[in-house]
Amino acid sequence: MNEAPDTDAVINWISGPVLRAATRVPFHLNEAVRVGRQRLLGEVIRIDANEAVVQVYEDTTGLRPGDPVAATGSPLSVKLGPGLLGNIFDGLLRPLNEQGRYVEPGVGQERAGKKYAFSPLVKAGDLLTRGTLFGSVHRPDARLQRCITPPDCDGRVVSIKPAGEYSEDETLCTLDCGESGKRELAMSHHWPVRKPRPVLNRRPIQGPLFTGQRILDSIFPIGCGGRAAMPGGFGTGKTVLQETLAKWCDADVIIYVGCGERGNEMAGVLHDFPSLEDPRTGRPLMERTVIIANTSNMPVAAREASIYTAVTVGEYFRDMGMRVALMADSTSRWAEALREISGRLGELPGEAGYPAYLSSRQADFYERAAHVYALSGKVGSLTIIGAVSPPSADFSEPVTTHTKRYVHCFWGLDAARAQARFYPAIHPLQSYSRDVDALKHFWSQHGHPNWERQRQRFLGLIEEQARLERMARIIGRDALPPRQQHVLLAAELINEAFLRQSAFSEVDRYCSPERQISMMQLINRFIKLSEDAVAMGVSIESIATLPVMRKLMRMGEEIGEDDLDRFKDLNTELDSTFTDLMRNGQHEAETHES
Ligand code: ADP
Repeated sequence: MNEAPDTDAVINWISGPVLRAATRVPFHLNEAVRVGRQRLLGEVIRIDANEAVVQVYEDTTGLRPGDPVAATGSPLSVKLGPGLLGNIFDGLLRPLNEQGRYVEPGVGQERAGKKYAFSPLVKAGDLLTRGTLFGSVHRPDARLQRCITPPDCDGRVVSIKPAGEYSEDETLCTLDCGESGKRELAMSHHWPVRKPRPVLNRRPIQGPLFTGQRILDSIFPIGCGGRAAMPGGFGTGKTVLQETLAKWCDADVIIYVGCGERGNEMAGVLHDFPSLEDPRTGRPLMERTVIIANTSNMPVAAREASIYTAVTVGEYFRDMGMRVALMADSTSRWAEALREISGRLGELPGEAGYPAYLSSRQADFYERAAHVYALSGKVGSLTIIGAVSPPSADFSEPVTTHTKRYVHCFWGLDAARAQARFYPAIHPLQSYSRDVDALKHFWSQHGHPNWERQRQRFLGLIEEQARLERMARIIGRDALPPRQQHVLLAAELINEAFLRQSAFSEVDRYCSPERQISMMQLINRFIKLSEDAVAMGVSIESIATLPVMRKLMRMGEEIGEDDLDRFKDLNTELDSTFTDLMRNGQHEAETHES
């Protein structure tokens, strides 16, 4: 950024992260500025005739009226390049130092020193259009990355460096951009965080973001490029679920943004991630991960920015043709940051004190999730999964209700389920996915053409269970007719054997599509056979106490990914058990009649 002399403006009022400065040169809205002698990073958020209102992203302790504010001439931007993967940053994409995990005041986004192996993909004379790829970067400790022509520049290649080791900022390619002159390209480039990166076009959702969690993939799936929210009260498992998704989902790149969570929760992520292995490749998970940590003790304005920073990083990898998943924990803390800044600005508060623009800011964020043809011609996607922490687990509060308008998947975490230690505590009757239609094809391709019907059946039974349980509380379970008792038994099996899945179980924390299909089909087979048996007069009790029923209940824990054949054995056992049961039942009925 080009920095002007320190006298562009002078502070005359400060309140926490917000200040007003008397301006001597024209400032632009959303322009990045440097504040005070420490040159703290800030952003212009409002301009009057001779005054700019600035939010400061660093600790403003010690600033005072009379201190200078310097214009930079550029919007708040982040540096996108090959040094991102595998690293941990603050909300402004400044590397967090390993020991103290804090950033010195006024520090920029330099990731100095490191060199990366570059190979050119173009030659002198080639025409480079906006967003095309001009080289690749090989890092032994991260996946293959590409060098992208910034989305705001095109021209003819004048010169390009040969393959070799270069740092992120070295000029690799010089472009002749006609009237706008020459432009030098490096592995990295800057992009304004609040401006979505352009694409050729958006495509409809096609395949799932496979998570390895049964209740998500099989019941409330999310597509690549989709957007989901997981609201839940304190302790309902949001953080564990976000981390589980970050570990097991099949995205190429994971952006994990810890936004305003307590430091000790974030410490768990920072401690765990570097030692985890990708189950599919056996490589360290950090190789495909970028962590953005903005804990509750960091400046509130930086928390507001961290969400945009994360989305911009996500779009950058998407533009290389990758499938990116962004987990934000928690968007409520982000909304609280908006509320705090708005309060300090003296804006008129809306619902629950949030500013009137809360909803449009949330829309801006979730709208950036997409499945696209990137400018490079590659197909990429950015999926956004935001945790929401409604106060008192009240889903009718503003952040949750507005979020609901912009997401396609809603995974409602339920306090009663969590209290019963039923995890993931996603409530099947308070959740939905609008990506189901688009994802039928995936399951058919995996040999499960009946997926949607079976999914509907599961949900139908769980809905009926809720109704019958209310009735059973009044008249007693035994007083229900056998068919209804059968519904209760079937729903219990679906809940226990299929929806329940511990994130901490060695065997069950990840469930492949094949395993999910086997389990779903076995449960369906059981429901069908037991329904017939009940219709023939077999008692519910004799079905509930069958040894095969116990095996079904525990199959998630007992049959691992390497043992899929055991599902076939269980199916055979199920068939023979019911053949015997029906034969005996029939025999009993005949004896009874005679
Ligand atoms: P939140 O972020 O909503 O406050 P956490 O994610 O910290 O809640 O979860 C609280 C506790 O619940 C965890 O420490 C863990 O013991 C348990 N838990 C949550 N989700 C799961 C899960 N999927 N599997 C097993 N245990 C879980």
